[in-house]
This record gives sequence, structure tokens and C-alpha cells, in this order.
Amino acid sequence: MKSVIDISDLTRIEIDEMIMTATDIINRPEKYSDKCKGKKIATLFFEPSTRTRLSFEAAMYDLGGNVLSVPGEALSSAAKGESVADTVKVVSSYVDIIAMRSPKEGAAFVAANNATVPVINAGDGGHCHPTQTLADLLTIYREKGTFDNLTVGFCGDLKYGRTVHSLITALSRYKNVKIALISPDELKLPNYMKTGVIEKSGMEYKETDNLESVLPELDILYMTRIQQERFDDKAEYERLKDAYVLTAEKMRAAKKDACVMHPLPRVNEISVKVDKDPRACYFKQVENGKFMRMALILKLLKEAENPVKEDLLKNTETFALTSGCENPRCISQTEQELEKLFKIVDKKAGVCRCVYCEKSKKV
Ligand code: ASP
Repeated sequence: MKSVIDISDLTRIEIDEMIMTATDIINRPEKYSDKCKGKKIATLFFEPSTRTRLSFEAAMYDLGGNVLSVPGEALSSAAKGESVADTVKVVSSYVDIIAMRSPKEGAAFVAANNATVPVINAGDGGHCHPTQTLADLLTIYREKGTFDNLTVGFCGDLKYGRTVHSLITALSRYKNVKIALISPDELKLPNYMKTGVIEKSGMEYKETDNLESVLPELDILYMTRIQQERFDDKAEYERLKDAYVLTAEKMRAAKKDACVMHPLPRVNEISVKVDKDPRACYFKQVENGKFMRMALILKLLKEAENPVKEDLLKNTETFALTSGCENPRCISQTEQELEKLFKIVDKKAGVCRCVYCEKSKKV
């Protein structure tokens, strides 16, 4: 039995297979209309969502299955202080698969360790969002026909933008992908992503705060919203919120066959005038998201026929520390009974990484 917490829980081959399944679903939807008959998904969303929750629910209905949904944290037992572990143990007895979103980084990892059914991470704080990446990958595949040799610009909030973290992780496994990281200084990509993913894979990258300077070289421009809800300092959000606005005017400098993506919701980062540009792909991403979620549900339910749980920490050396993770958004900060587990990054330098939220710590 397998869960998907991070995009790297899926191999490149598995992603290719899912793209093939999604393409078949697009061409022959009737073939899939009762594949999940008698099956149920629980959508546990403890943070706002429109697309992700509805697309999981639409995906399950289109597969002939049913949906149980929790209408937000305030109306669930989480508001009474129930732990993520207990919640998923309970929900596992009602459904065959769980999709969960939480503001706590590492919550999906804890859920997968405690559930007796597969868990899909539908976004855990500013950490990652693997199913948005599946939507993004199908979009790139349908637009470009390949993942190799692309130059991709990520623009906006690269610090808290979880969809950026997951897509960079996915792209780091393809050949000759170059990336441009475009953000204000305060919202740069976290270090664990730079050292643990980009530099480790050898992917070529550059950082800039100037969108116009790199726009002409991009095959894909991935715009993001400044993540208001993750700022401790609201004044800082106000100062940074309009850092980048893509206009029809600016699009004149982009390649003729460029592809503009955005995980949505859009606030002010892309002028609505750009929507008419054939290079605007953000509404296609929404559509592709449902097909990839259908493919993922099918895959995980098939694998759940073998009840042996995959070890989420296989091949990872971990150790427990008495002093925990320093990230205030990490689930280990709020759920005190969790063991303070770390993976070793650099033994000599004494650098380790929290297993839940991946933030580095020096010991
Ligand atoms: N919908 C995406 C997410 O849940 C992007 C965003 O909210 O800005 O991360």
C-alpha cells in the first residue's frame, strides 16, 4: 500500500504511466465511469481550497465512487484538539483512500504513517503539493510533448509557494532542465530546496528579482500568488504583494510558443488581459488536474489491494533529538507526542533535516 506525500514518492516511470492513463481517460471517459464503484474517498481539508478539493471529489465521482467530506477544520474534531494521527485512524475505517490538506507542514506524512488506507497530500502548509505537480506535468506534456531541455521560470513567492517546491523536485529528474528563480529577496526558494534538490541533481539555475530580464528565454513561466496566509508580518505582505504583475504588454517579450502557468487562485499576478493569449495555460492546468487525480486514485487503490504499507522512511537514516524542529509551522511543534525525528544531511557539519517539514537544523 502506497501513499503520496511528496512528488518523489512517484518514480518517473510511474508518472509516465499516470500520464498515459490520464490521456486514455480524456479520450475514453466511459471506460472509467465505474472503475471505483463501491469505493469512497475522504477529502479532509483543514485549509481553504476550491480546485483541489472539488477536483478530487469530481475525480472520484467520474470514476463511479463516492465522497465523504469534512467542511473545514472549524467544523471537525480537529477544532477540539484531535491529533492528525487520531483523525486519520478514525477516517480510515470509513473510506478506501484519503486526500488531506493541512496548514501544518509534515501533516500528510503523519497522516500516512497512521492511516490504514492510502493518503494523498493535497497540500501541507508551505511544504509541498504533489497533486498540483501532477496537473502541471500533464499540462507541460500536452503543451510541449517533453519534460527535457526546457527552461522554466518560477516567479513570485518561492519561499512559501508549495507548488513551486513540488514542481522543481519533479523537474530535477529530467534531462537538461534549466530554471530561473524570480523573486524578491524575502521570498527566495528555501535553502533545503536549493541544496537538497537543485544542487544535488546538478540542475542549472539562476536567481534574479527581475522578471523582464529572463522572460525572453523561458519556455515556461510559472507565476505564483504571494501566500498572504503564511506571513507572520502582515506589513511585509502588503509591501510584497504586487511585486510581479504579468501584463499583455510584458508578454510581447516572451517566446512565441511560451507557456504561462499558475496553480491558481490568481490575485493580481496576471492581468486578466493575458487570459486571451493562446500562451496562457492556467485554466488548462485546472482541467488536467482532475484527470491526473483520477489516474492517481486508480493507481493507489490498485496498490492498496496489497495491504503491506510502504515504509515512508525506507533507506533513510533517522535519529531523534530532544530539542525539536525550529519551524513554527511544522506539525511537530503542535502535536507534542510526535517523536522529534531528523535525517542526517551532512554528518561532519552537523546538519540534519526534520523528517516532517524538511527544514534544516544544526546540531
Ligand atoms: N492552489 C495552490 C495551493 O494550494 C496555490 C495557491 O494557493 O497559491 O498551494
